[in-house]
Amino acid sequence: MLETAKIIDGKKIAEDIKSELKEEIEKFTKANSSRKPCLAVILVGDDPASHYYVKNKEKACELVGIDSKKTVLAAETSKQDLIKEIQSLNEDENVDGILLQLPLPDALRAETQEIVDTIAIDKDVDGLTTLNLGRVFTNDSKAIYPCTPKGCMELLKRYHVETLGKRALVIGRSTLVGKPISILLNNANATVTMAHSRTQNLEAECAMADIVIAAAGKARFIQGEWLKDGAVVVDVGINAITHIGSEGEERRKLVGDVDFDSAKERAGLITPVPGGVGPMTVAMLLSNTFELYQRHI
Ligand code: NAP
Repeated sequence: MLETAKIIDGKKIAEDIKSELKEEIEKFTKANSSRKPCLAVILVGDDPASHYYVKNKEKACELVGIDSKKTVLAAETSKQDLIKEIQSLNEDENVDGILLQLPLPDALRAETQEIVDTIAIDKDVDGLTTLNLGRVFTNDSKAIYPCTPKGCMELLKRYHVETLGKRALVIGRSTLVGKPISILLNNANATVTMAHSRTQNLEAECAMADIVIAAAGKARFIQGEWLKDGAVVVDVGINAITHIGSEGEERRKLVGDVDFDSAKERAGLITPVPGGVGPMTVAMLLSNTFELYQRHI
């Protein structure tokens, strides 16, 4: 009988990466430049979750010695005005990376990729321009890996998870998460299956997978009994749910796409939510900013 899964501590790994980066940035800057790396973040609208994420990113930048520059635009901002803002940051020699916080407000959402594509390739810190995704697709050394997929791969690496020849199942096929993770796992020699809302018999797909990456955006959707014994489970999902507290009061909490309680009885390794992939996304954003900065200096 299997023991309860070992928990992948994304928070701790992210802290380790930030400490390593802080040292590297200090050393590199001292030797090569009079200016620090700089990340520009554009936030459109007043979605509280997006404002919270951006604040976290600013704090993380400060911690490792990266300057951050925040531009907040009204939810009604037109596509043209947003693109103008991006173009002015493209031309700013002191900016190394440009992050457009997603999702965009409803009125702009359908045009997200067109807007993202106006970010200069050498400042595409989130790696989401079509041009950069092409580089990811062709395993080009100049590719910048999108932050969340890169964070998932880094967790697997730091927990010594073998990918070569293993069966990996990615649940979700978005441009932001599912598709790039599938490519990165493929580049790492896993045999990858990409599942989506039209996949038939997801349970059977899960039963065969050595590695499961859950990115469907559905709270506690993947059940422990679907998993292969000893599988490695990386839960990308962040879903806010309401539950009833001990005093009968309504409470909000974040859960993943995996039913953690049942999955930890079956998996070998598993990420919690929160404290798994989330902190890694921020750490990878810092790492990508530093990488672009080094290319600019
Ligand atoms: P998304 O754009 O909504 O994509 C969801 C994907 O899941 C789609 O490809 C969809 O399939 C698939 N899906 C939906 N229902 C399914 C089902 N029943 N079975 C199998 N696949 C199903 O979401 P996203 O941007 O990729 O984000 C996914 C999750 O990750 C969300 O919870 C999000 O909050 C979270 N996230 C976390 C981080 C982090 O830092 N931890 C970063 C980004 C996103 P179709 O293509 O067929 O519609």
